[in-house]
Amino acid sequence: FNVPLPINEPVKGYAPDSPERIELLKTLKEFKQQERDIAMHIGGQEVRTGKLVRMSPPHDHKHTLGHFHRGDASHVQQAIDAALAARTEWAELPWEQRAAIFLKAADLLAGPYRARLNAATMLGQSKNAFQAEIDAACEFIDFLRFNVHYMSELYKQQPASMPGMWNRLEHRPLEGFIFALTPFNFTAIAGNLPTSAAMLGNVTVWKPADTQIYSAQVLMELFKEAGVPDGVINLVYVDGPTAGNVIFQHPDFAGIHFTGSTGVFQHIWKTIGENISKYKTYPRIVGETGGKDFIVAHKSAHAKAVAVGISRGAFEYQGQKCSAASRVYLPSNLADEILGYVKEDLASFKMGDVEDLFNFINAVIDEKSFDKLAKYLDAAKADSSVEIIAGGGYDKSKGYFIEPTVIVTKDPKYVTMCEELFGPVVTVYVYEADKFEETLEVVDQTSPYALTGAVFSQDRYAIDLATRKLVQAAGNFYINDKPTGAVVGQQPFGGARASGTNDKAGSILNLLRWVSPRTIKETF
Ligand code: GLU
Repeated sequence: FNVPLPINEPVKGYAPDSPERIELLKTLKEFKQQERDIAMHIGGQEVRTGKLVRMSPPHDHKHTLGHFHRGDASHVQQAIDAALAARTEWAELPWEQRAAIFLKAADLLAGPYRARLNAATMLGQSKNAFQAEIDAACEFIDFLRFNVHYMSELYKQQPASMPGMWNRLEHRPLEGFIFALTPFNFTAIAGNLPTSAAMLGNVTVWKPADTQIYSAQVLMELFKEAGVPDGVINLVYVDGPTAGNVIFQHPDFAGIHFTGSTGVFQHIWKTIGENISKYKTYPRIVGETGGKDFIVAHKSAHAKAVAVGISRGAFEYQGQKCSAASRVYLPSNLADEILGYVKEDLASFKMGDVEDLFNFINAVIDEKSFDKLAKYLDAAKADSSVEIIAGGGYDKSKGYFIEPTVIVTKDPKYVTMCEELFGPVVTVYVYEADKFEETLEVVDQTSPYALTGAVFSQDRYAIDLATRKLVQAAGNFYINDKPTGAVVGQQPFGGARASGTNDKAGSILNLLRWVSPRTIKETF
């Protein structure tokens, strides 16, 4: 069989009185009225430990969403055992049957689960309705449908044969289990990391970030209803070091699918290296890590387009996207005009709860993130060499709110031009309009990361120059558009250097990492 190329799930508008808005508001209300008791899921069983951790919305400390049950090393071991017990039957199931499960999951999410997963993402991770819709609903539906299509393409890849023989490739799953370690900032990524590996016949142990567990629970309900068999995806709520101690010592550890920080990923890589002789097979290491993503405008750019690129690219979801623009290079002839538009835009952004579905700015994810951002803002305020031209304020009395902030610096190596902040803060450096080529060099050399970046220009020679000079500076390179919002199937996503292994999410390149093909030659 071949699974045809799907079309991307249309983004719903949530206009007043639209059915999707009514359903979402109803679901938000329901969720807010019931405190959920959130169990781990191991081998199809709900596992409760009684060690309860309270969950509250990042924008509203007072409210309790529920409690999750914290697990320990024994639960990680149980999850591995359950995965390995499910492995043979799952691996031997014809791929069309596996495909059908994940296509059904996509349909359930497009229908009855849409409001539930969006509402859980809004309350648990402080996303507005639009940010939840493009992530939890559309992007995850797309991951599921496009990956099933890519899987069917992958299985078609077969070698040549000569008369008298038949050569074939059997795309086996990996021998062992896959560990999916997932972030808070995209529910779609949390769903994609275990499912893309599972779809190819692998079994998984999934550990979400604590701050995403509220929506992870809904994902697990979705997987169950779609028919993912017991033990194929096991969900545990343990802390990172506890999970690592068990997982990376295990002889059947066959791969990690990771999105998170560069520091954690490097630590994991080292640990895997230290334990390498313990494993039956060389583990696959796939990770998307940090970013310090840029926008560089040429003197020919459309000022308004650059401004929109900055305000959307830097501040949507409070800048908590690996792809978010956080360092901006503006030419001296346009800088004032562009920054004027940005300030106007920011003045119109409303900040607050997710209950008003379209507040542009909600809270940052947790206290640790809030405190880190507040420190950077305090340092900038105390530094006479930089100017804060918008925002700069913060307040954690009700929730973790940081104002969208624009810092202007005269030093292209100023600390916030270099370090990843992961929040609603962008730093701008104004360069002499004639020094575009030299500036490209600075863009390339300022950061160890290479995830996303954007160039704005109406001059084809300048576009060509930037495309060549920045060839290694970004895995996703945008011309006259913001550097966020990659769409599955359209802009395969991922970066190199310190940003990851660049095994593009939502593409056949990613799926290839989760198979271990056997070549079979038969002579007639
Ligand atoms: N794919 C997302 C985007 O293009 C970013 C993913 C991430 O933050 O990890 O904006």
